[in-house]
Amino acid sequence: MNKPLSSAELNAIVAGLKKLSRNLWWSWSQEAQDFFHELSPRGWQNMFHNAVAVLHEVSDQELRARLQDAAFAGRARSVLSEFDAYLNDPKTWGHTHAPKLHKHPVAYFSAEFGLHESLPIAAGGLGILAGDHTKSASDLGLGFVGIGLFYREGYFQQAIDSNNWQTEYYNPVDPHNVPVEPLLDAAGERVICTVEIGMGVVDFQAWRVNVGRVPVYLLDTNLPQNEQHFRDLTNRVYGGDSTTRIMQEILLGIGGVRLLRALGLEPSTFHMNEGHAAFLTLELMREKMAAGKTFKEAQALTKPECIFTTHTPVEAGHDRFSSELMNYALQRYIASQSVPFKDILTLGRIKPEDEHELFCMTVLALKLCRSANAVSELHGQVSRHMWQHLYNVPEAEVPIGHITNGIHLLGWMKGPVRQFWRRKLTDSHNGEAKFFREKFGSDWSSAINHKEFWEKMTDSNFVTDEELWALRYKLRRELIEFARRKLLQQNQRVTPGDYIRFDHLLNPDALTIGFARRFATYKRAPLIFQQFENIVKLVRDKQRPVQFIFAGKAHPRDDDGKRFIQQIIHLSKHSELAGNLVFLENYDIHVARQMVSGCDIWLNNPRRPLEASGTSGMKASCHGCMGFSIMDGWWREGYDGQNGFAIGTDTHPDNIEEQDRVDSANLYKALTEQLVPLFYNRDVNGIPREWLKRMRHSMATLVSQFTTDRMVKEYANKYYLAK
Ligand SMILES: *Cc1c(COP(=O)(O)O)cnc(C)c1O
Repeated sequence: MNKPLSSAELNAIVAGLKKLSRNLWWSWSQEAQDFFHELSPRGWQNMFHNAVAVLHEVSDQELRARLQDAAFAGRARSVLSEFDAYLNDPKTWGHTHAPKLHKHPVAYFSAEFGLHESLPIAAGGLGILAGDHTKSASDLGLGFVGIGLFYREGYFQQAIDSNNWQTEYYNPVDPHNVPVEPLLDAAGERVICTVEIGMGVVDFQAWRVNVGRVPVYLLDTNLPQNEQHFRDLTNRVYGGDSTTRIMQEILLGIGGVRLLRALGLEPSTFHMNEGHAAFLTLELMREKMAAGKTFKEAQALTKPECIFTTHTPVEAGHDRFSSELMNYALQRYIASQSVPFKDILTLGRIKPEDEHELFCMTVLALKLCRSANAVSELHGQVSRHMWQHLYNVPEAEVPIGHITNGIHLLGWMKGPVRQFWRRKLTDSHNGEAKFFREKFGSDWSSAINHKEFWEKMTDSNFVTDEELWALRYKLRRELIEFARRKLLQQNQRVTPGDYIRFDHLLNPDALTIGFARRFATYKRAPLIFQQFENIVKLVRDKQRPVQFIFAGKAHPRDDDGKRFIQQIIHLSKHSELAGNLVFLENYDIHVARQMVSGCDIWLNNPRRPLEASGTSGMKASCHGCMGFSIMDGWWREGYDGQNGFAIGTDTHPDNIEEQDRVDSANLYKALTEQLVPLFYNRDVNGIPREWLKRMRHSMATLVSQFTTDRMVKEYANKYYLAK
């Protein structure tokens, strides 16, 4: 018989769970997620898999009653003790390799943070990368603080109207129901700072997101004392026109530095994730001028404090503002200083004296950082070419290096896959598991980032073909059932017959190809349908069927991107592809996780060399989904001829129409000559041995290489600690 829990024991668990719910560590702990899921399965599903919302859904009375189930309470205790051990680990990588960052942390500024689907404050890959960077900084135990904006309406939700045209709507984020907490001072009062924007002085508060050991502070101007247009400033991710944009960036850069100072922090490095944050350099300079330095001296002193990561070769991705707008938005800020406005303007121009040149945030960041980097090797080359005229040195000497992007592995791994690998690492009957325990200790979650672990994938004693194929089937089925549910919900007028009809959409045995990302036109979502007749033949092949799942949002003002969506949805409903091509609405982190895990192939066909890195394909590898990509961004470094599939070669024609034509032909050629035969070449037990061999090789060579664990260590060694 179990002894009932005393009320002191209950209080401790309840308090522990409340604290845990406000730390996103649970988003990469399977046991924590399973616990909250079980507390309220519907609440979990309906409120974006969010522990805070589940604890609101379940009354205190219910929680205490449920914890009298000894097994359930035992699970709570074990999750809490794991959480506690994580928070207080005295032997992290950071303790050994970067102790000086604990006193003077890295301050990482980003206009977007893609941390979790319940906090939709990212528009795409840039934000997802910022979220993953932060999670790995926490895992590594780095001294690290994130600075971002709290967008009350977040990024838009996508709906498709009866003309298959994307429309946008916004779900206000309720700060009390998502994993954030108000930033309070020692006396328990809200921390309020101010920043001059336009002619006004604007108050702002901050919300703290606990990302494991690391805080991210999200700035928020929605306070009653502010004028309405300033209250609305932080409503939406990249919402409004360039006036809103510049004002958001003033808040982020200048406000962000002020908040850090209010918290008593003296960061050793200010990391600008993309040019949006570059106004932070003006505030660092202002501080120095206020202490008596000249404008020139302030520049020289600010530069060693900052580093900058550029994320795109696409021109529109670099903010440029007119001098009128700069003057308008910064008038009060600059008026309070002794430096003439025209001197500030020179910092954002390639030719300082050219009054017609727009003020460019990337130029400001490049001029005022000690190091700059691109996000893949090819993007490094492209960026050195793009910014050469700023430096007037040979291209190879342009001081822009590169660190290739990665993903936070555990955060992206789907539940069954986490459990699968965890069993492999902890199974006491497995001799290899002993090897890993001896090498990496009892903490499986750190072993999972290591190359040695993934290299084991080529060993069929460690994991058999049958096990891997079973896992692939399970993941594909989960995706297809997810897609069927979602398609039924997307269908505006559901009739009773639809419940049956939708359960027959897609084929759980078919080679499943996924494509999901922002519908920026350079990513060429509909490229594959340039071979329409051929694709119809592939899809219709009864013996060797192929099917396609698409998802993605176009920017609200990008009509060309919206036309791509329209075209694909039209094909999915009204062409010979209907039933074997679907479009899932409202792409977000959750949809992404379903797709990268359940698809067999992850298609990526950007117009080279515009994909700076790309990360969605990296999320696929650990699930046994293989890449099929143009040789651009990370794939150019990852692909070795045997660990996935390439479209074309390491070159591209300059002519855009020619490039589209060649790429779509190569895409179809690889599909028919390599992918389809390999997938359907089965032995007597129905197992595609050659396919699995390639899959094992893809895991062995890609997974541990393209993580933010590797990436953040590189940032630390190359940039954060080199000063
Ligand atoms: C990973 C991810 C992206 C970035 O994907 P790319 O391949 O880099 O374009 C964008 N949005 C979401 C929701 C993601 O999860």
